[in-house]
Order: sequence, then C-alpha cells, then structure tokens
Amino acid sequence: MIEDKTPQRTSIAQLGEFGLIDHLTKHFEIKNESTIKGIGDDAAVLDFQNKKTVVSTDLLIEGVHFDLAYMPLKHLGYKAVVVNVSDIYAMNAKATQITVSVAVSNRFPLEVLEELYEGITLAAKQYDIDVVGGDTTSSQKGLIISITALGEADADDIVYRNGAEQGDLLVVSGDLGAAYMGLQVLEREKQVFQVNPNNQPDLDNYTYLIERQLKPEARKDVAEILKALDIKPTSMIDISDGLSSEVMHLCKQSTVGCNVYEDKLPMDPQFINVCEEFNIDSTTIALNGGEDYELLFTIKMDDFDKIKGNPNFTVIGHMTQESEGIHLVTRANTKIALKARGWNALQEE
Ligand code: ADP
Ligand code: MG
Repeated sequence: MIEDKTPQRTSIAQLGEFGLIDHLTKHFEIKNESTIKGIGDDAAVLDFQNKKTVVSTDLLIEGVHFDLAYMPLKHLGYKAVVVNVSDIYAMNAKATQITVSVAVSNRFPLEVLEELYEGITLAAKQYDIDVVGGDTTSSQKGLIISITALGEADADDIVYRNGAEQGDLLVVSGDLGAAYMGLQVLEREKQVFQVNPNNQPDLDNYTYLIERQLKPEARKDVAEILKALDIKPTSMIDISDGLSSEVMHLCKQSTVGCNVYEDKLPMDPQFINVCEEFNIDSTTIALNGGEDYELLFTIKMDDFDKIKGNPNFTVIGHMTQESEGIHLVTRANTKIALKARGWNALQEE
C-alpha cells in the first residue's frame, strides 16, 4: 500500500524574505569562541585573536554541479558544506564558520529549502562550525548555493601548495575513485528508471560508492592525526578534481617533479568490483575521478617511520627534480606522463 501523504508545499512568497531567513536560520547555535556575532545583524563579527584566518568560497549551480534527480536536498546541503570545509582542512587549519547564500526559483516550495538546511545543520554539527550569515534571493531558474568557509590556524601550522621539495614523500588519506563510480551507478539507475519507473534499483552492492558521492566527508581528522604524529606536511591540497590534477598543482607550485606508483594507489574492494562491472580501468578512475575530498600532501622522508603502516594514509610516490617531470610508474614498471584531466573532462569522453 502506498501511503496517502501528499507532501506539504508551502510557497516561499507566503513567508516573505525576512520570514524565510528567520525560519531557516533560527535553529543555528554558536559554538566557536571566535564567533562574536552570528546571524542577525548587518554583518557577522569574528575574533581570531593571535591566529591567522583562512577563507575559501565555492559556488554550486543546479544542472552544472548537481542534479536534483538523484541528489536529495539534504545531501546537497551537507555536501555543499563539506566541499568548503575540505578546502580549509587542506590548509592544515581548523574550520570555524560558514556563510550560506542561496538563490531559488519559485518552483521550490519552503519544504525543499528546509531539507537543504537540514543537511547544512547536520554538517555544521558534524564539523563544529557556526553558520554566521548568508544571503537569500530569488533566481529565474534553478537552485544556486554559495558557501564561504572560514577557519583558523597558527601561522606556523598553515600548509601551502608550494612547499614540496625533491625527495619528499607523496601521501594520500583514505581511498580514491569511489565518488566517481558512485556517480556512474546513480546515472545508470536514473536511466533505468526513466525507461521503467516501476523498476526499483537494487543498490546493495554499491552502498559505499553511493555514499562517497552523495554524502562525502571532509578530512577534519587529518590535521589532528598529523599533529599527534609530530608531522607537518611540506605541501597539501584536497582532492576535488582528481588525483592527477592535484599532483600537478602541487608540482607546479612547488617547482618539483613527481613519480606516482600505480600499485600503491589506495582503492576500496567495492570500487575495484564496480570498475570491472563497468569495464573501466580502475587506475584511470583513481587518477582522474575527482570528488573524493581526501587530502593529498607531501612529508619529509625523515617522517616516513611515523606514518608507516598508519591505516589513514598511503604513501603513493615521491617528489623528484622538476626536470624529471610528472609520471605514473605502472605495474609493468613503465613511466607514463600524468595528464590533468579532471573529472569534467573525463565525463566528456
Ligand atoms: P541584508 O539586507 O543586510 O543583506 P538580510 O536580511 O539578507 O540582511 O539577512 C539578515 C541576516 O540573516 C544576516 O545576518 C544574514 O547574514 C543572515 N542570512 C540571510 N540569508 C541567510 C541564509 N540563507 N543563511 C544563513 N544566514 C542568512
Ligand atoms: Mg541579504
């Protein structure tokens, strides 16, 4: 039996702009000492005292960065926060505040925004960040979300992209490629559904991949783990576009070369299985998949013993002289020049 429960659709116009803002933001609590004033005035007031402030912004556009056909609104809100705090963590900093700006067309009822804000609230809780402001406006078409994240760090702790040196080890947290294959699974199911809406997808074999796509997590823990191990990375970046592309960023900015070893790339067993099922080369996806939100960093060779065998990290290569170039060393021990394709380019193939 299908429950007869027509979802409520409250028009945004009914509430008015101020009613809407109040409705969406009244539950936010302030947790960080650095937040002096959050939502409710013309501007938020923050005080980082003797720390440095780090800031990062992202813009997400419906139809370009997400598809509401398989992205539940709550997940979208969560993910929008995650991709931003991930950039703060990639500076080896602590994320402390975000502002959230949304533009919506009148095709969205209030309930949709409520769902979006549920996800944002959940992420704020998960990552201990305060929502301190934003803006709300209408759009002609679709949903647009922009989030700005702020964070703090001691000046000495901040890690840039440009500090890697020849001989440093290249390390990655977690595993690679799963988010991209999650998207492939979801797109396949969407097509099946369009052909036959009665066809209920069986996604049991894909739970990890789909979760990596729909509910990614940012590596808040990495800075803490590295601090406890007494390691300061020499350079760091988060993996949003794909490993190859991020390796190239580190190399370019640090003026070094790099060897990445194919047999070291960390892959989840479910990821390997699904690559076989789709008849796709797992190395290609691990290198170019994107949206993993893991951290990629370099450490001094001397720190190897501190990180060896740590389940959070995998050493996947080392930095060389710039003139040696940027290569993948394959299982067959041949060298292939890495290309930064990013996941957008990959999709067009
Ligand atoms: P202004 O007219 O100065 O832009 P608003 O009425 O838009 O002010 O915003 C009132 C308060 O609500 C401000 O603190 C603003 O930062 C906050 N705010 C507005 N929209 C949002 C939103 N979508 N999410 C979180 N906070 C918001
Ligand atoms: Mg405003």
